[in-house]
Amino acid sequence: MAAQPAEVLVVGGGAIGLAVAYRLAERGAAVRVIDASGGRGASWAAAGMLAPVTEAAFGEEELTRLNLAAVPVFQRLAAELRERTGQPVGLRTEGTLAVAFNADDRAALDRLTDFRTGLGLSTQRLNGTATRALEPYLAAGVRGGVLAADDLSVDNRRYLGVLRSAAEAAGVSFVTAEITGLLHGATGVEGVRTATGDQLRAGTVVLCGGAATGALVRLPVHPVKGQILRLAVPERLRSAGPVLTRTVRGIVRGSEIYLVPRPGGEVVVGATSEQQGHDTGVTAGGVYELLRNAYELLPVSSEFSFVEARAGSRPGTPDNGPILGRLADGLVVATGHYRNGILLSALTADAVAALVQGEPVAPAWTPFHPERFASVAASQLPPRSTAEPASAGLTT
Ligand SMILES: Cc1cc2nc3c(=O)[nH]c(=O)nc-3n(C[C@H](O)[C@H](O)[C@H](O)COP(=O)(O)OP(=O)(O)OC[C@H]3O[C@@H](n4cnc5c(N)ncnc54)[C@H](O)[C@@H]3O)c2cc1C
Repeated sequence: MAAQPAEVLVVGGGAIGLAVAYRLAERGAAVRVIDASGGRGASWAAAGMLAPVTEAAFGEEELTRLNLAAVPVFQRLAAELRERTGQPVGLRTEGTLAVAFNADDRAALDRLTDFRTGLGLSTQRLNGTATRALEPYLAAGVRGGVLAADDLSVDNRRYLGVLRSAAEAAGVSFVTAEITGLLHGATGVEGVRTATGDQLRAGTVVLCGGAATGALVRLPVHPVKGQILRLAVPERLRSAGPVLTRTVRGIVRGSEIYLVPRPGGEVVVGATSEQQGHDTGVTAGGVYELLRNAYELLPVSSEFSFVEARAGSRPGTPDNGPILGRLADGLVVATGHYRNGILLSALTADAVAALVQGEPVAPAWTPFHPERFASVAASQLPPRSTAEPASAGLTT
């Protein structure tokens, strides 16, 4: 008799959950994705930069290595999805131009150049004239820049749509429900409980709940709110040629600002970084700051039309690194991707699929095992409910 396919429940249908579900189904598992919001979490809000180095902070070498490893894996997944669905995910390959307005910014860009060079990545320093030759609409005050030609970007919403189509074609089913707890049994975690009291059972539960994962398990995942805008370049400006060709980033009044062009004339303007708990409301102050900073970087942006303001919760962790590993028998977690969850989604999917199917996980993931937070989880969070057996490691 043929073996039954492994049954997996994936909690969360953002970039991480969808990529995990697709990869597991494509490898033969029977997968259900459960999501409360229709996948409208951080992945929907994101800017879609695939910027392994410009997004990493100094001192985060292991994370930078992981981010770098994620780029070719993302490219391969994009090609695979195109082959499976016939739809492009909207990858752009023109790179990132980081610009400087003053000597402090220049010094920061010099440090970025040294960091990139140390990693063997090509980086081109440019004076003000050469910078504006690449992006002629930049503010006259821009004194110079650095071109990271190998940074990519993706239309994250198109990517999510294509991932979902590919997952459905591979047999993944989708359930709209809020998960309020895990079902513990003699063999470990055996399923999940929904807010309406339903029980869904499977051999493995994979938690991909982004910033909300900490409500289900004892892990220090916290929300970092990001407000972000979508603007559209009017046809009258576009008819003269592209207004923005590549991602442009700069520091304006101490805040980082980036502009990411999309195919079709949209420009994403991001993003604030706020500690506001799970609030994802858009504020007048947030929109004002983003529009003002965008204007200082690219004055013509004041002529763009306003499409959308949105906020999402980045899943932050104490060391800014993701959390991926087995928490108990039948329970795997993949969360905490903070500022790089779109970039890391394909690499995460491969690692989770390997873990669920009993194969070795790539060594680059070793520093990101949940055990590194075992003491934090034990000391900072309320004790387990006495109704729940204690066998599930870090789970609540
Ligand atoms: C403004 C902003 C800009 C960003 N820009 C970039 C970028 O340029 N590049 C990049 O790589 N990353 C970026 N990020 C980070 C990236 O968006 C996140 O790291 C990534 O989306 C995390 O994916 P996720 O699937 O873990 O979480 P999410 O996308 O938040 O998905 C989690 C899902 O789980 C569901 N869920 C949670 N709890 C439950 C529950 N109990 N029951 C049922 N469903 C549940 C939610 O409904 C949600 O759909 C950005 C983030 C923000 C906010």
